[in-house]
Amino acid sequence: MFLKKNPRLFRSVTFRLTFLYAALFGALSIALFAVVYISLASNLEKQMDNGLSGKAREFELLYASRGIKALRPEFQRETEARGTRREFIRFLSTSGKVLAASNMRAWRGLRRLHLRTQAPSKGAVSISTISVPGHRHRVRLIRRRTGDGHIIQMGVTLMESEGVMEKYRETFGTTLVVLLLSGGLVGWLIARRAMSGVERVTQAASRIGKGDLTQRVAPGNEGQEIDALARAFNAMLERIQALVNELREVTDNVAHDLRSPITRIRGIAEITLTGEQDAEAYREMAATVVEESDRLVGMINTMLDIARTDSGVAEMSMKRLDMRDIIDEAKELFQPVGDDRDVHIELHLPPEPLFVMGDKAMLQRMVANLLDNAIKYTPSNGNVAISARANTLGVRIEITDTGFGIDEKELSHIFARFHRGDKSRSTPGSGLGLSLALAIARAHGGDIRATSTPGKGSAFNISIPLTSPHVATQ
Ligand code: ADP
Repeated sequence: MFLKKNPRLFRSVTFRLTFLYAALFGALSIALFAVVYISLASNLEKQMDNGLSGKAREFELLYASRGIKALRPEFQRETEARGTRREFIRFLSTSGKVLAASNMRAWRGLRRLHLRTQAPSKGAVSISTISVPGHRHRVRLIRRRTGDGHIIQMGVTLMESEGVMEKYRETFGTTLVVLLLSGGLVGWLIARRAMSGVERVTQAASRIGKGDLTQRVAPGNEGQEIDALARAFNAMLERIQALVNELREVTDNVAHDLRSPITRIRGIAEITLTGEQDAEAYREMAATVVEESDRLVGMINTMLDIARTDSGVAEMSMKRLDMRDIIDEAKELFQPVGDDRDVHIELHLPPEPLFVMGDKAMLQRMVANLLDNAIKYTPSNGNVAISARANTLGVRIEITDTGFGIDEKELSHIFARFHRGDKSRSTPGSGLGLSLALAIARAHGGDIRATSTPGKGSAFNISIPLTSPHVATQ
């Protein structure tokens, strides 16, 4: 009824744990009770049987030495000591005739059956438990056959042992209730404590759900697992917040950087619509539109590449590569550009291979972007040097130039998407080259660092983890 009214409580982990603890406590207690109960009952029975057998043996000896006459007063004395309602002793003939007996007034309910049947063989004893009308407690009955075939029969009510067992059951019943209640209470406290951490995470999640991304789960002391959950949750939030901030920034930059070419395209279209131009002018305008459109498409593609590489969804075909080949090819590719701009390109590569696991096209793009910048931002007669070596951490590639350098305050922004240095505005570019190069290095487990002395030149250091030469070429 209560649970029907509160289905949520029934489904809660706290309730289920509480219930489980109480049930477990109860089941264990009942099992323990059963074991103690059975061994106690069997011990009491054994004790009583030993006592009765001993007595029956004594009476047999008395009968053997002094005859039937000596038995009667002994029976009387023995039963009166315990109480004639609680014990009887008889001496029977083989046919079941009572030859001597204690006071049997309280034992009229004894059926004839009990007198004769199951008589043991000579000298042996048989023991059973019977119910006798008029007696609340059951009776332990022992029969011993004497050497000449008579039977000594003794019966004792189980009042004492049954009383002990009843008391034990009562005490256990009370104890069980207390155990169940305390088991439930302990279970509830443990469950509450364990669940309070989860509740904190839930509360933080619902506050974040309302739009406040700055919310974090406060540290607690519910245990390692909950702390780990809170830490993982906070780390996830940090990442989401960083991504959201980045998304905002990128959206602002995209809006700004895409607007210029689109505005130019629109301007050209307007001129075409309003003025009368000759065929040559129209051709030029169409060529500009194609160029601007290509620039736009190029920027959009690079942005997508950065986003995919950064988020780890870019498809990478990882192979064992010798970085020397990639650097060599990039140098070959940019040599004509360097020649054009009168920039000398030097190459310093070690004789041994520089193996890395990586995506060839991506690594080529990374080196090309840095080399392109070095040539682009170095005036004629300048120098660009590319060197590579292996250290304990991996392969280190350094691209240095003798260009105009980067101001210190700008150095921390050059890897941001769409960032273009003030001095570079006159040079063609999109401000995406370094972002893509860094995203590629990080996708390979590496990094890029830049240092610069304004007016003298810059140095870009790429580090890519070195793979064991045992990795098979795929
Ligand atoms: P882009 O070259 O298209 O402007 P990048 O992302 O490649 O975009 O570079 C961002 C900015 O970093 C450049 O605009 C320039 O100001 C600066 N930069 C990059 N490489 C160099 C370099 N080798 N020397 C001087 N400045 C550089």
